[in-house]
Formats: sequence, C-alpha cells, structure tokens
Amino acid sequence: MTARVLVVGSANADLVVAAERRPGSGETVLGGDTAISPGGKGANTAVAAARLGAEVALLAAVGSDGYGELLAASLREAGVSTGLLRVVDRPTGIAYITVTPDGENSILVSPGANSALTDVDVDLDGVAVLVLSMEIPIASVEAAVAAASAAGVRTVLNLSPAAEVAPATLRALDVLLVNEHEAAWLLGSAGDPARLLDLGPSAVVVTLGARGARVVTATGTVDVESPRVDAVDTTGAGDAFAGALAAALAKGAELAEAVRLAVRVAAVSVTRHGAQPSYP
Ligand code: ATP
Repeated sequence: MTARVLVVGSANADLVVAAERRPGSGETVLGGDTAISPGGKGANTAVAAARLGAEVALLAAVGSDGYGELLAASLREAGVSTGLLRVVDRPTGIAYITVTPDGENSILVSPGANSALTDVDVDLDGVAVLVLSMEIPIASVEAAVAAASAAGVRTVLNLSPAAEVAPATLRALDVLLVNEHEAAWLLGSAGDPARLLDLGPSAVVVTLGARGARVVTATGTVDVESPRVDAVDTTGAGDAFAGALAAALAKGAELAEAVRLAVRVAAVSVTRHGAQPSYP
C-alpha cells in the first residue's frame, strides 16, 4: 500500500432532512425529502486531499449495504484508493441530520461499522503523512499514531469530535489540529492555545472559523487570515482543512505554508452546500 497520505477515520452516509422545526420528545414532524450524501470525517478528509491531487488512501470500515457501496463509489470517483476500505458485518455508519430554517443542524450519529475499525496495523511504507480523526475506536487512533511515530511518518490528529486520548498519543503527534471548542475542551477553559503545546505535540493548529487559523510551534505563533467569503454552509469545513493540510505537507510544504493552503480550501468549501461536494 503506497499512498503518500493515509487517512484513518470514519465513513458515514449523511441523511439530511429539512424541517420547519425539530421534533420534541414523543413528537412526529413531517419534513422534506431526504438528501443522501457521502460523509464521515475520515472520508471527507481523504476526498479533500485527493481533490488537490494528493495520492490518498482511506482506512475505514463500512457495512455490506447500499450506503457502504455509495461511500466506496464516491471515494473512487474522487480518486481515493479504497484498497484498505473494509466491509464488515455491521451497518454502515449513518449521520441523521435535521436542518431547520434558522440554519441550525441537529445530528444523531449511528457509528455502526466505524465501531468495528480495530486492528489498524497498516503498512506505512511510502506514507508521508498519516491523518486521523475521531468517530472511530480511540484505541485504533492511539495504535496508528504509535506505529506512525515509530516509523518516522508525520502524524496529524484532528481531535474532532473531542474525546480523551492517551497523553502518549498527544506527545507523539506532529500536528494536533483542533477548532476553538476542542481547544477549550482540552485546556479545560477558553485560554491561550499555545498552552496546548504543553501536551506534547510538535505543533498545534487551531482553526478559527471565518477568522482563519493559528499555528503554534516552539518557535512562535503564526496567524493565517481567511479570505472573506459569503458562507452558505460550513458543514465539513474542518475536514476540508485537514485534507488540504495533509496534501500540502505530503508535498513537502512547511507547516505555515500548508495552513495557508488549508485556510483557502476551507474558505471555498463554506461557499457551497454539503461537505464533499463543496471541496475544490
Ligand atoms: P466544521 O465543524 O464546520 O467542519 P470546525 O468547527 O471544525 O468546522 P472551523 O474553525 O469552524 O472548524 O472552520 C474550519 C476552517 O474553515 C477555518 O479555519 C476556515 O479556514 C474555514 N471557515 C470556516 N468558516 C468560515 C467562514 N465563515 N468564512 C471563511 N472560512 C471559513
């Protein structure tokens, strides 16, 4: 398996329904037609990196069902290698998403097959960057980071959704990627993200929504501004950022340069609807 970027993470079918309001407990509300689109943080990240021309493989798990086939097809169409995509005896992960006219989402995720993504000891030969996100068993994230770190492969962990990982995992990371909420969660309060370096990663990248991103390393802090855009849908912006960052690092870019590309790619993604369909 020789891809320059290896993504280990989730693959979900996103089932999106627009409704006037979200149902309360015990209530039934009629909504619009269901829109089905490929999603999951791992799959989104892999697609974003592949769209930028990187050679990408995704290690993820789907079920032997129509949603799994849809996800595999969308990955192939984007040019992501699916040689490591596992078909397991669990239903494909599904995100049930309700969108109300105020633009707010409520999301219920059924991880399904993603929970069966264990035993992730993969061949890292030729891999330049390993990118991980949560939504899969944390033991798998920890094992993959340990293996990559031992093999001298660069690691990027997008700690999204925020969850506890072993201190040794954070210490082994090249890049810890978080949004402001995840940064505050890790710090236990909204504080200076530079303090995240104390957890041990070589670098911390904090995404700041419309304000862009901040890069923190032992040599200092660099703020990267976002271009001003008309945002219509920020779904999957963080994953677009992660994929673009990995694609640039795999091509040999310095971290700040990679973040400048990631900010531009994520800014484009928020000007279009959906996650994967919005990626340049
Ligand atoms: P999401 O959960 O929506 O995928 P996130 O909360 O993980 O995203 P954000 O910090 O909100 O992360 O956004 C990630 C990146 O997307 C930002 O660093 C920025 O580059 C881009 N972005 C997000 N919102 C906007 C916006 N309104 N205008 C321009 N760029 C944006």
